[in-house]
Amino acid sequence: MKSISPNQNFSLTSIFCSTFGHRYKKSKKITNHISEYKCKICGQEVTNAVSGGIEILTFKNKKVNACLSEFFQKKSQQTSTH
Ligand SMILES: [Zn+2]
Repeated sequence: MKSISPNQNFSLTSIFCSTFGHRYKKSKKITNHISEYKCKICGQEVTNAVSGGIEILTFKNKKVNACLSEFFQKKSQQTSTH
């Protein structure tokens, strides 16, 4: 017989977040319109989507944001030197 042990990884924080919602704090500015946010309760990361909504910060989204950030910085440097 296999007893069901409570999974310690499924912590109170995730219960809190699923009940009350995540407490996102801006962790990184990508562009004027896109930023990355991190939940200060459970640590989940999200980002503004180009569509205007919010998406989970996946590995793919992180890469896209890194490119955007680089592009945005170059662009803002160019405009400031003109
Ligand atoms: Zn959370």
